[in-house]
Amino acid sequence: MKLLTYGYSKQEINERFEKVCQQVFIQSKQIKTGNFQVVSNDDVKLIFELYDTYFFDNYFKENKVTEKMAFDFSKKMTSAGGKLMYYKVTNKNPIQFRMRISAYLIFNSFKNNSTKTKTVNLAGFETKNRLEALMHVIEHEIIHLIEFLAFNDSSCKKDNFKKLANSIFGHTAFTHQLLTGKMEALKEYDLKIGDWVSFSFDGRYYKGIIHRITKRATVMALDKNGIYKDAKGNRFTKYYILLKYLKKLDKKPIQS
Ligand SMILES: [Zn+2]
Repeated sequence: MKLLTYGYSKQEINERFEKVCQQVFIQSKQIKTGNFQVVSNDDVKLIFELYDTYFFDNYFKENKVTEKMAFDFSKKMTSAGGKLMYYKVTNKNPIQFRMRISAYLIFNSFKNNSTKTKTVNLAGFETKNRLEALMHVIEHEIIHLIEFLAFNDSSCKKDNFKKLANSIFGHTAFTHQLLTGKMEALKEYDLKIGDWVSFSFDGRYYKGIIHRITKRATVMALDKNGIYKDAKGNRFTKYYILLKYLKKLDKKPIQS
């Protein structure tokens, strides 16, 4: 299969990546800057089609793969940067592949108006902004697509995937757990499990300890009437709070 034979030098990869980038700015209705603030499902499709043009000689279009694909962003997907779902095509279902991208991770990995250059390592690249992150996530999903087309199966844990992703896109890391809510919480809000924080809830002020972090933090707040109790007899109530509403405390508060 022709798709399995592609391979580019580092320089060729950079040049093609830049071309895709430039065309996104020209053709996308929403993406006009690297740290775009609005994006649509059409942008995932556009980027995929540009990769098809610049990396694969329009193989996906000419072999009628693209027309059997759907593209979307998900706000709920928080553990993986992207996902490629593979379906059986039937009369009722013309969609064979759905490429889904985590809007949550793309947006939260970079601040809106970052003047400081904070990079996020993705697929082995120091990624500077949302667009670059989105592109590397799509690259990873394209390798899954190629494997599904060639072998009816795909795994980014296996050597074949790693070889393909490296020779076509120069990837040196191959995981879906590219960025996690936990990592972002650490970076952006400087919070981690075990930290003491304060927050307001329903007009009351609480102090508590972070028990778990996903999209929100699970905070065990000190509360005389709480139903949770630790070994020292402190009582707690459990709250789920968005990270941005938490204020880090320097030390453990003394329960009043
Ligand atoms: Zn993967």
